[in-house]
Amino acid sequence: MIVASYRVGPFGAAAGMLIVTIIASLLTGQGYGPIAAIDGPQKARVFFLQFYLLCLLFTTLPLAALLIVRQRLAKRLEQSNRWLLQAEAAALVGHWRVDLADWTIHWSDQTYRVHGVEPGIEVDVRYSVERYLPEDRAAVQKILAHAVRTGEPFEYQGRIQRADGEIRHVKSHGSIEMGRNGRAIGIFGTVQDVTETVENARILEAARSAAERVANTDMLTGLPNRRHTLAFLEKALAGAREHGAPLAVAMFDIDHFKRINDTYGHAVGDDVIRRVAQRAKAALREEDMLGRIGGEEFVCILQRASAQAAEIVAERVRKAVETGTGEQEGQPGATISVGLAIYDGEPDIEELMHRADKALYAAKREGRNRMRRAA
Ligand code: GH3
Ligand code: MG
Ligand code: MG
Repeated sequence: MIVASYRVGPFGAAAGMLIVTIIASLLTGQGYGPIAAIDGPQKARVFFLQFYLLCLLFTTLPLAALLIVRQRLAKRLEQSNRWLLQAEAAALVGHWRVDLADWTIHWSDQTYRVHGVEPGIEVDVRYSVERYLPEDRAAVQKILAHAVRTGEPFEYQGRIQRADGEIRHVKSHGSIEMGRNGRAIGIFGTVQDVTETVENARILEAARSAAERVANTDMLTGLPNRRHTLAFLEKALAGAREHGAPLAVAMFDIDHFKRINDTYGHAVGDDVIRRVAQRAKAALREEDMLGRIGGEEFVCILQRASAQAAEIVAERVRKAVETGTGEQEGQPGATISVGLAIYDGEPDIEELMHRADKALYAAKREGRNRMRRAA
């Protein structure tokens, strides 16, 4: 009866009951079996048989009912599991669990797929950790160790090497399972391949920084353009004001440039602008900034240079242009006039630039190819 109930459920229990009832009734009726051996009237034997069958019924039916509930639960569990696996496969998110009692790890099918490993192959904690590239491994271990210690949820991202050798970016979120005594008993986490997101972010960042470079660069000379130069000066001025550090601006303009354009043409004029830029740049220190702020006008921003040092640098730039861009093989020579202004507590860059501009025009007035320092 028990076997029949276990195998076939309530139907098995009922069928079993029927068979036992028939056999017991027939045998007892014909005087066989243990009940027939009861020493008493026929009525007592029938009562005993009925009592025996009733007992049988009351033990088997609850068992059958229990089995049905269990079967239903198992079915529901199997379905949930199937849905979970389908959801994981669709969302490309796998899960894993480390049992801290015996340091075993379980991977879901999608976790296997993320690692490029056939589902079902036996894996252990050490193998799981060693999927991460050596450069990322320590960080991942540190985050997990911290989570186990504090019981806090965790999140990390790192690169793994798949079984086929491909490097992929994966992201994990997870939490710690706490036992009754407040100690961690397991680590549960999800794992997702985020390579495409990382790649897209990288491409986007590269495009953004390329666009920024273009937006900040003067195409003719490759120097910072007006916008970028003035923004830089703005920051330099704020820094000088805050730290009391010296700051100087040397503004220069090519002498008689219109003549060069008129005599040799615009293309040669462009070439002169480029050569002047190169010469001036080469005469500056690493920390100085040179930008092109107009057609043939430039600005050198000299930071942390005393007035004397700034004067030397500005003069060196002028001299470098004079000697470096001398007339050669049909190329016109060029000189520049320089106006130098030392930062003197000006409230904004416009005033500082205005002083440099005035000094520049003084240099022009006084005959060009010279440097003048603003009063
Ligand atoms: P000065 O010594 O007083 O500076 O005389 P200048 O002839 O150089 O006068 P100015 O500085 O006013 O001349 C600017 C000229 O530069 C006017 C314009 O035609 C020319 N120019 C401006 N931008 C460019 C450029 O990008 N390429 C070329 N080839 N010429 C430019
Ligand atoms: Mg000019
Ligand atoms: Mg000029």
